[in-house]
Amino acid sequence: MKKFIGAHVSAAGGVDNVPQRANEIGANAFALFTKNQRQWVAKPLDEKVIKNFKAECRKYGFRAEQILPHDSYLINLGAPEQEKLEKSRAAFIDEMERCHQLGLMLLNFHPGSHLKKISEEECLDRIAESINLAHQAVPEVIAVIENTAGQGTNLGWRFEHLAHVINKVEDKSRLVFVLIRATRLQRDMTLEPKRRVRRRLLSSIVL
Ligand SMILES: [Zn+2]
Repeated sequence: MKKFIGAHVSAAGGVDNVPQRANEIGANAFALFTKNQRQWVAKPLDEKVIKNFKAECRKYGFRAEQILPHDSYLINLGAPEQEKLEKSRAAFIDEMERCHQLGLMLLNFHPGSHLKKISEEECLDRIAESINLAHQAVPEVIAVIENTAGQGTNLGWRFEHLAHVINKVEDKSRLVFVLIRATRLQRDMTLEPKRRVRRRLLSSIVL
């Protein structure tokens, strides 16, 4: 299997600058934000920027599977308050739409936080429903859920959390996980062989 190695690359000045920057550091893959990650709203992507981004990706040989956009840190897909939840869902759909416009197929995000206001289970249900809504709103793009170290009330630090979400997401073909090794080491997701991780995850999933 070909290995992809890259970094999170700055999108300063426009996302269409990213492929060239990634190429300059010798990467054959890259991560990016398609909008300012610390703001709720961003202006829609310009038609010219979209075209240019695609042309630059072709020029430097980056295909969609080599590019991993990350959503805004403000988004909480499991937010306890209705207003924050709706705002997060709308922002997430916008992020997914931006990926789709750019010809990208993946969108990396953190599951969400219960903020001690709702149970873990309720929060995980909301996260799954948020993913379902985004899948319905935008075609093709795959939701890439990331494990967390469980700082504060963030969920996603146990395989069972991830399994709970898989169980409730309708289109499982558009949901994948990214297990970050350093993050895993901070919680109970110790450095186990891949086989055992697979078994633990699968044992909690109802297919
Ligand atoms: Zn992340």
